[in-house]
Amino acid sequence: MAFLGPNAEILPVLSSSPNGTVVSSTCGTPIAFDGGETLNPVDVVLDPGHGGPETGSVGANGLTERTLNLAVALHARDNLVSLGYTVALTRDRDLHLPIRQRAAIANALSPRAFVSIHHNGGAVRRSATPGTETFHQVDDPESARLAGILFEDLHIAFAPYWVSWVDTVHKGASVRLRDGRTETYGVLRLTPDLNSAISEALYLSNPPEAALLAYPEIQAMEGRTIAAAIHRFLTSEDPGSGFRPEFYDAHTTGTGTTSGCHDPELTPPTEVSTGFTAEEYETLAATARHLGRSTDWVVRFGVHTLKFFGSLPDADPIQPLDEADRPDAYGPISEVVPWDQAEHAVLIEMADAYGLTRTQVQKLGAVLMAFLTGLEA
Ligand SMILES: [Zn+2]
Repeated sequence: MAFLGPNAEILPVLSSSPNGTVVSSTCGTPIAFDGGETLNPVDVVLDPGHGGPETGSVGANGLTERTLNLAVALHARDNLVSLGYTVALTRDRDLHLPIRQRAAIANALSPRAFVSIHHNGGAVRRSATPGTETFHQVDDPESARLAGILFEDLHIAFAPYWVSWVDTVHKGASVRLRDGRTETYGVLRLTPDLNSAISEALYLSNPPEAALLAYPEIQAMEGRTIAAAIHRFLTSEDPGSGFRPEFYDAHTTGTGTTSGCHDPELTPPTEVSTGFTAEEYETLAATARHLGRSTDWVVRFGVHTLKFFGSLPDADPIQPLDEADRPDAYGPISEVVPWDQAEHAVLIEMADAYGLTRTQVQKLGAVLMAFLTGLEA
């Protein structure tokens, strides 16, 4: 399940309870987000590789993979929609999107096919035919069939062009593995329940191929070819071709991480208030004085500390509190804490874990901080 965010971004739902809904932000951070249009499952999810500060391969003519992948994906989407399919893109504009978020989006929309669109870099070996590479999931016949059909159609579609191609021994459809016999590529490894494949139609790093890929007509042709291949995968038992032995190569480009990713604020901070008795509030105030912080800081830090203790390697899973142990959070003196969208997700997570309301979790956090500073027995 996923929501459509205010900027038309797809936000996969991580959890939903009476305490609130937590989604995965564009940068892959859990954030609180309620409302927004619910997205239904789609037939196909297309993933234009790279974006934002991650250019991917760059052609001698300045064409970046980031831009080219998106252009091809938009053409593929339009063609699939014309064929009657429902389609979603992991990004429909230039956007920094970590690999985990791409996989989370695909998983949330349960497509029948998930294709990540890339263009290759690095090869220098001259070849008589395009160096098309596709990748599939390990020990997965349907993923292999999807990659085999993508390879077959893309290789045939580009072969007639009079270009000085390059290739490597990996031309064809194959599986790239790392230790533990799992896929090197996160979009394949993190979508085990989907039929997923990666397409690398040509080598953008090869100047003649970059020149060809700069033509809008060629980008449209590639998108049309990918759409036709997905249509063939979904409507036939065709096996595809070009299969190569799986190989071990754990090395990746290091892109697709969350580092340097900045989320826009989708929802402004909202306040949660918790009630204290006069005596309890004096303990909270004393704790705050002891720490040289404000009372709302102590409450917020206490909730984060609950999460920290619960996530220690040898910690027992947090259990819902018995009725008798639930804090009374409805005293006459209220402490108001503003939480931003990411902090709210922590508050909701702890409320769900302890079987409490957000109001009660704030109280629990305050009690914990008083205890840790030795101000409460
Ligand atoms: Zn790429």
